[in-house]
Amino acid sequence: MAISFQFTEEQEDIRKAAREFAEKEFTSELALECDRDEKFPSELYRKCAELGFHAVSIPEEYGGGGYGPIEQMIVMEEFSAVNPGLGLACLIPTFGVEILLLHGTEEQKEEYVTKIAKGGIMGMANTEPDAGSDSAGIKTRAIKDGDEWVLNGTKQFISNGSIADFILVTARTRDVESFDTRHRGISYFIVETDRDGYKADKIKGKMGIRATDTAEVSLNNVRVPESNLVGEEGKGFYYMMEFFDISRVWVAAQAVGIARGALDLVIDYVRQRKAFGVPLAGFQYIQFKIAELATKIEAARTLSYRAASIQVETGKPDNTLSAMAKWYAGEVAVETANWALQFHGGYGYIDEYPVNQFYRDAKITEIYEGAKEIEKLIIARNLFGIKGR
Ligand SMILES: Cc1cc2nc3c(=O)[nH]c(=O)nc-3n(C[C@H](O)[C@H](O)[C@H](O)COP(=O)(O)OP(=O)(O)OC[C@H]3O[C@@H](n4cnc5c(N)ncnc54)[C@H](O)[C@@H]3O)c2cc1C
Repeated sequence: MAISFQFTEEQEDIRKAAREFAEKEFTSELALECDRDEKFPSELYRKCAELGFHAVSIPEEYGGGGYGPIEQMIVMEEFSAVNPGLGLACLIPTFGVEILLLHGTEEQKEEYVTKIAKGGIMGMANTEPDAGSDSAGIKTRAIKDGDEWVLNGTKQFISNGSIADFILVTARTRDVESFDTRHRGISYFIVETDRDGYKADKIKGKMGIRATDTAEVSLNNVRVPESNLVGEEGKGFYYMMEFFDISRVWVAAQAVGIARGALDLVIDYVRQRKAFGVPLAGFQYIQFKIAELATKIEAARTLSYRAASIQVETGKPDNTLSAMAKWYAGEVAVETANWALQFHGGYGYIDEYPVNQFYRDAKITEIYEGAKEIEKLIIARNLFGIKGR
């Protein structure tokens, strides 16, 4: 029996609808404006949410599309292929929702997940000024006071930090006993952004994905009710690792989309641009490079959807495959965007040429949700059976 590498008819319909939406709404003027001004496209997100692209994998009972990770990747890939910045701005507002779906109470899901499906915005905050890759090294503290938790700490590089309705925040709920057990005392809390003591400072000057909001978030005696604890106290680190295994395949899909979009741009460009009396596309060096990149994109795409397919079939993400997909697809996106810009020559260096934005937007896929070195660390640990640090 053959393994199917085809999208189903329904998946193909979702792909076409996502592509049509992106081609119509991601205008070059809006892309340039949001990129230059570092502006979140609120009106575009409203339209996207009305059609439900952002919530494609949220269960129907909470107002979503009721599909799964593959369909979510399809939307992410198509949006990113048309414009990575605007595409991500439309989809990142649900960042972290799986943690609520997997571990939230029914009341939390009904209140918070439904809000996101309706077009609200959330975030997931773990990174701190001194703890990024070392995600168990956080210092934000939550202390129980009667029937409330009081949170103090600083979170760094938080997507949607200054535009979200609420953020899922990790905080230490137990003292650190030893370096090797520090991951055990971390818990997740829902923190509404209008609570006293919540402050977000938008981070300006990002290299890419400038249409998305990123902020430094400080929590100064932020009080939340007991009912805002997500899942079990002390299990937050495990929830986060599980979430990353799930979310890494979307970053892989984002990277594949960016690579595809950059390749389309360069193929168009080298057909039109002439040097030495012939189109650039006539030079075999350029043909070969584009052939190599197209092959790598296909390999990255197959790996990414395979990682997600295993997740659908077995009901849980495959830690190794998710890490492989994210690392490899990110590297292919950066490499493809780099060559695409190179073959645009000087024009590629100017921000009016979209390839310039693809080049800058590609880089984040090698950094967030685990830098590529962390992905290799995961793969190697699993191959060698290494536990701990
Ligand atoms: C635009 C943007 C949006 C983000 N959104 C979010 C968000 O919404 N929520 C959130 O919690 N975080 C978010 N992040 C944070 C992101 O996940 C971290 O930046 C990332 O995990 C790397 O952490 P760090 O920046 O502290 O780098 P560090 O941990 O200081 O690492 C620096 C570099 O050192 C290398 N390195 C680190 N450890 C190892 C190792 N063990 N072996 C080999 N090499 C290593 C890697 O190359 C790494 O890139 C975002 C970041 C950016 C830039």
